[in-house]
Amino acid sequence: MMSLVMPPVREDVIARRLQIAEALRRIVPDGVVCNETELKAYESDGLTAYRQPPLVVVLPQTTEQVSQVMAWCHGEGLNVVPRGAGTSLSGGALPLADGVLLGLSRMNRIVEIDYLDRVAVVQPGVTNLGVTRAVEGEGFYYAPDPSSQIACTIGGNIAENSGGVHCLKYGLTTNNVLGVEMVLADGEIVRLGGRGLDPAGLDLLGVVVGSEGLLGVVTEVTVRILPTPETARAILLGFPETRRAGDCVAAIIAEGIIPAGMEMMDKPATLAAEAFVHAGYPLDVEALLIVEVDGPPIECDILLARIAEIAASHGATTSRISQDEEERLRFWAGRKAAFPAVGRLAPDYYCMDGTIPRKRLSEVLDRMAGLSEHYGLGVANVFHAGDGNLHPLILYDANQPGQLEKAEAFGADILRMCVEVGGVLTGEHGVGVEKRDLMPVMFDEVDLAHQQRIKCAFDPELKLNPGKVFPQLHRCAELGRMHIHHGALPHPDLPRF
Ligand SMILES: Cc1cc2nc3c(=O)[nH]c(=O)nc-3n(C[C@H](O)[C@H](O)[C@H](O)COP(=O)(O)OP(=O)(O)OC[C@H]3O[C@@H](n4cnc5c(N)ncnc54)[C@H](O)[C@@H]3O)c2cc1C
Repeated sequence: MMSLVMPPVREDVIARRLQIAEALRRIVPDGVVCNETELKAYESDGLTAYRQPPLVVVLPQTTEQVSQVMAWCHGEGLNVVPRGAGTSLSGGALPLADGVLLGLSRMNRIVEIDYLDRVAVVQPGVTNLGVTRAVEGEGFYYAPDPSSQIACTIGGNIAENSGGVHCLKYGLTTNNVLGVEMVLADGEIVRLGGRGLDPAGLDLLGVVVGSEGLLGVVTEVTVRILPTPETARAILLGFPETRRAGDCVAAIIAEGIIPAGMEMMDKPATLAAEAFVHAGYPLDVEALLIVEVDGPPIECDILLARIAEIAASHGATTSRISQDEEERLRFWAGRKAAFPAVGRLAPDYYCMDGTIPRKRLSEVLDRMAGLSEHYGLGVANVFHAGDGNLHPLILYDANQPGQLEKAEAFGADILRMCVEVGGVLTGEHGVGVEKRDLMPVMFDEVDLAHQQRIKCAFDPELKLNPGKVFPQLHRCAELGRMHIHHGALPHPDLPRF
């Protein structure tokens, strides 16, 4: 049952479903789904609490087809929701009952690899890991590594500005994408950015990365590829208090060390992960840190020794440096399996995503324990510690009446707390529908109106992915209106056009 308020559904559009499918089939003859059973496969993304089968699905294979689909939908005044692999955890790819779902998964070709320029040009449906797979034979990789990398697509990564363990050192998607080809809401094909570091003109690429499918449909992507580091080694650190672990993270960064990854798990997450994969984690610690460094072996040795010293001075009770690749992978196995491991603690969990200043971690975790008691729901925490990106996993049972609503309220309280301590509503999962109604906690009306002006510049009819990100979409014409009070023009000295 969907408790979410979405834009009003146009019944006249639903009544035309078959004609719409027929028209789309003329553009993509082998790629239209409109059978009710088959549409169910697309009814949600990774945020399965919300479901809505789309009006019809279209699966183009070329930019030209995407452009024609968009132009036709624009002419008919239809809503369009882009979709990659559907792994979004914020409901960004949630379909609309009267909207066309534009699936990009069949656009999955590697277009070009240029090792000299260190770039790869790929279609948007290539998976994140697919880019690394295509270049690893030559000793290269694609740095941003969301845990979902085996499935999620580069197009989705761009829309969500996705990150992963390696983003502390190598940056998020936005730092690793050089250019895109994009189809606008009316079908026009544009190119933003390029192959180099500093393309001419405004940085519209920076606006598009993280825009959650609201500004255009990405149809080709140029990404930076990096040489695979010579060595990678990890150190496992256990602390008797989360405060000490948090302080240790801050001290490592303050020392000028930027690890390749720095991840933290609280006790419930550590216990669940250990029971699931037997990674050899200590069970008597309140917080577990995994810190990885990479580069030439001598550099790794020096950095690990220094990190161990810093950890000791913060009271670490466990400190183990990986002795070989097998041990390094074992340290990570538990962290990588933490989500499914926590999934064994309760029938359902709700994965939140907020960011806080690192130094407020222990306070935030304490307050979260209080909220957990208040709502009567358990919570386990996995934390991209270096980035301050928190992933509380709220445990609930969807079959128990009222528990989903409680989990949602608990999650909203956590996000409000993130903003209150100086953080932000999302780290890497996006706003989507999940955090849409919390946007006013972070932004006032003026901020939101400015953000919507950007939306209006790209999609003035508001047909691309409506109902996502903005708590309320004003008609673009309304946003341009001036407020004239008692006939007094604001700033009368300014020239008007
Ligand atoms: C188990 C699991 C672990 C995860 N771990 C991480 C993690 O570590 N880090 C992280 O950042 N995220 C993580 N995620 C979230 C998710 O995988 C990412 O947000 C991912 O980038 C979504 O990619 P997708 O192809 O599945 O996109 P979808 O879910 O299909 O779509 C996501 C958004 O992108 C838009 N979109 C998709 N393709 C295009 C396109 N070509 N053009 C324009 N808009 C488009 C959609 O409209 C939607 O708004 C995880 C998800 C799961 C299920």
